[in-house]
Amino acid sequence: MEKNFTVKSDTNLWQRLDMDVERFSAVPGILTGAYQDIFLSQSNRPAAMDYFDSMVENIYTGRIDEILAAKAEGRPVIGTFCVYVPEEIIQAAGGVCIGLCGGSQLTVPDAEKILPRTICPMVKSAFGFKISNMCPLFQAVDFVYGETTCDAKKKTWELLDRYVPTHVMEIPQRKLERDKRLWIEEVKDFKAAVEKVIGSTIDEGALKQGVATLNAKREALQRLNGLRHHNPSPISGRDMLLIQQIAFYDVPERFTEKVHALCDELEIRCQNNNPVAPPSTPRIMVSGTPMAMPNWKLHNIIEKSGALVVNEESCIGTRYYKDTIATDGTSMDDILEKLTERYMKIDCSCFTPNDDRIDQVLTEYRASGAQGLIDYCLQFCHTYNIEAVKLREACEREGIPFMAIESDYSPEDVGQLQTRIEAFIEQIQG
Ligand code: SF4
Ligand code: SF4
Repeated sequence: MEKNFTVKSDTNLWQRLDMDVERFSAVPGILTGAYQDIFLSQSNRPAAMDYFDSMVENIYTGRIDEILAAKAEGRPVIGTFCVYVPEEIIQAAGGVCIGLCGGSQLTVPDAEKILPRTICPMVKSAFGFKISNMCPLFQAVDFVYGETTCDAKKKTWELLDRYVPTHVMEIPQRKLERDKRLWIEEVKDFKAAVEKVIGSTIDEGALKQGVATLNAKREALQRLNGLRHHNPSPISGRDMLLIQQIAFYDVPERFTEKVHALCDELEIRCQNNNPVAPPSTPRIMVSGTPMAMPNWKLHNIIEKSGALVVNEESCIGTRYYKDTIATDGTSMDDILEKLTERYMKIDCSCFTPNDDRIDQVLTEYRASGAQGLIDYCLQFCHTYNIEAVKLREACEREGIPFMAIESDYSPEDVGQLQTRIEAFIEQIQG
């Protein structure tokens, strides 16, 4: 029997946040239905998924109350759109970092009244959430920190600033020593912007603590992803994607503890040979653009077609946690330098050249025991779309079955994707 699950509502809270309460009131019901269909219909889920289910139930209520309580204590609440924004600094300031990338079709038409239609759905969705007052997380932030990773984002921030204070961090597009120097200056500007909110300076001790907290969170996710690679896997790709999405709005320390609790359970499941799907289930790795909550489209199609997703090379995936920060820094400059070194290892396709990413995909592919790679690109994301050419070539060289998919958040291409994915699964099964 399916468990009792309801995404909670609180119209008084939403009114206080100046939301479009009438329109938003339908959203918890829609999310409840989608969640039941995509997640709760799975059999033999780990018991420790209960916590992550409750994080979704409370996404528009309990978690918002926690964020507003932090704000009332003078702690900064900062929205981000990219894994290049160093959340260790927000943590050092006692603040709350919320990943705001939009993963829903709901607000794309709102955005298209202002923005061109021919840009990435993630940018349109996020912008749409703000201009239509349809996201309580967005309504709760003090300011947002955008970046210059891609053209769609950097030009949208100029418009977003009309609705919410929007700072922009310049991300270099190469990885030379001079690029690193530029980026350290940007990190220092970011630190100064956070310090302005708290009215005091972040010292070395606080930053070290921030680094330790985020390192621990990333290590917990590394442990979880390692267990998930066990063959046969003890957890589904849908649940893994969900956890990696929740990483962007949960309290880091609590999230780390709950991920380890889940890992403990998965270790036992591996020992007891209790996989989430039969050992013969085809294993697929996904690479490419991030899948922000509630973008569960591809994983849902793949797993309902009879395969299992065993790795995400993505910013909502390994790119977020594969690297940690060296902890031997002593002075503030030293710590910031080591922090920057870690962030420069993120291999987003906005960098050129970016061959490290191709190597990283192959490394993760081997570690995950996958039998085929699906490269996922959000529509109009030119950098990932073009980088897929090199990825395809590398897969051909290595004899890895490869398929590239370009999609958006609308349900219109679901049938077509399903047909292609089913054919791909047949191909990898031989
Ligand atoms: S894909 Fe690139 S731009 Fe997007 S969140 Fe990741 S690092 Fe940032
Ligand atoms: S997916 Fe691509 S186009 Fe969309 S926001 Fe990220 S980098 Fe920009």
